Amino acid sequence: MKFNTKTIHGGQEHEPSTGAVMPPIFQTSTYAQSSPGVHKGYEYSRGENPTRAALENSFAAIENGTHGFAFSSGLAAIDCVLRLLSPGDEVIAGDDLYGGSYRMFTQLFQKYGLNFHFVDMNSVANVTEKINSNTKLIWLETPTNPLMKIADIKAISTNVKNIDSNILIAVDNTFATPYLQQPLDLGADIVMHSATKYLGGHSDLVMGALMVKDDKLAKDLHFIQFAAGAIAGPMDSFLALRGIKTLHIRMQRHCENGKAIAAFLVNHPKVGDVYYPGLKNHPNHEVAKSQMKDFGGMVSFRLKDESQKAAFRFLENTKVFTLAESLGGVESLVNHPVTMTHASIPEPERLKIGITDSLIRLSVGIEDISDLLADLEQALEI
Ligand SMILES: *Cc1c(COP(=O)(O)O)cnc(C)c1O
Repeated sequence: MKFNTKTIHGGQEHEPSTGAVMPPIFQTSTYAQSSPGVHKGYEYSRGENPTRAALENSFAAIENGTHGFAFSSGLAAIDCVLRLLSPGDEVIAGDDLYGGSYRMFTQLFQKYGLNFHFVDMNSVANVTEKINSNTKLIWLETPTNPLMKIADIKAISTNVKNIDSNILIAVDNTFATPYLQQPLDLGADIVMHSATKYLGGHSDLVMGALMVKDDKLAKDLHFIQFAAGAIAGPMDSFLALRGIKTLHIRMQRHCENGKAIAAFLVNHPKVGDVYYPGLKNHPNHEVAKSQMKDFGGMVSFRLKDESQKAAFRFLENTKVFTLAESLGGVESLVNHPVTMTHASIPEPERLKIGITDSLIRLSVGIEDISDLLADLEQALEI
């Protein structure tokens, strides 16, 4: 099946007892047994639920994996991956991460004896030079949030595996989605999504996903999902499945609109740097072109006026773009990383990587592009 068919049919069967085309919402915690231990494959919904199973099959299909796992949030999915590790193990992660991932690594797992190195994943050497016998996991995000840096998934995977084939490569694929890039095909072991974003696509749920293609790894992750219990509920699973069915057509429009907005911002006299992997002057434009089908709907930029006042004036005056956390929904959102999504990163760290007051992040939705451009124009003029 091609990707555009997999989003609709991947891993899906009609419901066996009624033939229902859409998976019913099995809003149940438990399942009747005819004799102790004799049941139809379902015992208790923390372990398995048919609606969640349908979604997990879809997750696996769209990332070219063999197993998918649905969690109550993106962070719960990341938490599940880190529980594969033991005290003393080391993780090499990107230095421009989703703020919540950084917070979990430094404020939760460091306490339990995991050690983290944060490096600029623009260069493969930055990653390989940190590898030692304790290294167990590479955590990479590409494009990064909010600076839209690109890491070369294939080059990093190949080089790391050449040094030690047991080191796991995990990719947070939230920004790109499998429509744009499929990390398992590029050498990664684990793909993670905040399904809250593009997979769900309608800003109506919070959910996480993991996808893998190795049976042993799937078994270990499934055990943690079951034993720790941060599963996605049936109603949310239904909504996420419904969202995934239109992922490919939504992404087409997100990419078209993202490109048009990046081009508009580059030429605007009040705008400084624009961060979008589709721009020819993006430092890793060629890598982006080789591993991504298109460049997505996330665009960050700086106002030339570097004061917080100027940024707030812009943020308070957009009308079609809603000022809000999150991204990846059909509606356009605008975000101020310093005070919103990345507030949990200590100021010196933030400044070092360039998350300053003048930085603004757009999640470009699928509205009519002329309304989006007019909105940005009027907010920049104020
Ligand atoms: C939102 C987000 C997360 C966290 O997911 P939640 O669903 O909010 O828990 C992780 N990574 C990226 C890139 C995100 O944008």
